Amino acid sequence: MIQLYIPLNFLGVMYREIKQSLTDLDKMFTLMDREREVADASGASALVVPREGAALRFEAVHFAYDPARPILKGISFEVPAGKTVAVVGPSGSGKSTLARLLFRFYDIQQGHITIAGQELRRVTQASVRQSIGIVPQDTVLFNDTVEYNIAYGRPGASRAEVEEAARAARIHDFIAATPKGYDTMVGERGLKLSGGEKQRVAIARTLLKNPPILIFDEATSALDSANERAIQTELSNVAQNKTTLVIAHRLSTVVDAHEILVMEAGQIIERGTHTQLLAANGRYANMWALQQSGEAA
Ligand code: ATP
Repeated sequence: MIQLYIPLNFLGVMYREIKQSLTDLDKMFTLMDREREVADASGASALVVPREGAALRFEAVHFAYDPARPILKGISFEVPAGKTVAVVGPSGSGKSTLARLLFRFYDIQQGHITIAGQELRRVTQASVRQSIGIVPQDTVLFNDTVEYNIAYGRPGASRAEVEEAARAARIHDFIAATPKGYDTMVGERGLKLSGGEKQRVAIARTLLKNPPILIFDEATSALDSANERAIQTELSNVAQNKTTLVIAHRLSTVVDAHEILVMEAGQIIERGTHTQLLAANGRYANMWALQQSGEAA
């Protein structure tokens, strides 16, 4: 039996290895496809971010992934330098699309997107991506060490810098408690991290990168409320003085935002501060009441 078990076990390992390599390849091609969707304009220069920070502007933006199905139908808003604007709205209303367009995964069909007054289409993609830190809904971890995964925010960062970022993102103690510490392998083939832990790795990455612009795509999957509050505190610490766009699924995150945009079917149907929107007694006030009663229940 044991004679059969060893080769079968080996085959199992081989199968998993091959499957993983294919998954990695698949991810790579997905990224490459995205790269091919847009190209730098000829003579594009690097984005210049002034010392006081970078304002973001969407002006009458129209966008469709597929020409037959418009997704954004004339979106205009501004995130002043150093401020936080939050976007809320039902699933599929186009919130994450705003983030993808800022990262310039796609070009828009009409309108303008500018960063610090510079048209996104006229500057190099590399410089744009360098200036934006994203904490996505679901962080992709590489099959590599914890250190590599955090240092990805700034390749070449020292162990001390990685540790400092991990401490600020409150993931250091967890890492230090593993037998191999920062050399622990994570990802699909290594240590599995919970949703909250992965987000903390993403926060640590972003802290290391220290970009002037931040995008938080809040996780839809529920974290327990203690974890959620902790992550929110860490996120608002990271966002201090940075131009921040928050795609929020829980309204408790957006209460302090400079402006809240309520999206529905690719349009902004309401906008204002939390207090203004509650007073307006419209869609946002409705969503707020529903979430409050849900949380109370
Ligand atoms: P959620 O709250 O569920 O994350 P969302 O408001 O962020 O939703 P988006 O991800 O911006 O919504 O998607 C808006 C619409 O665009 C959806 O109808 C979605 O099906 C469509 N869409 C998103 N990505 C693509 C894509 N790559 N190709 C085609 N359609 C897409």
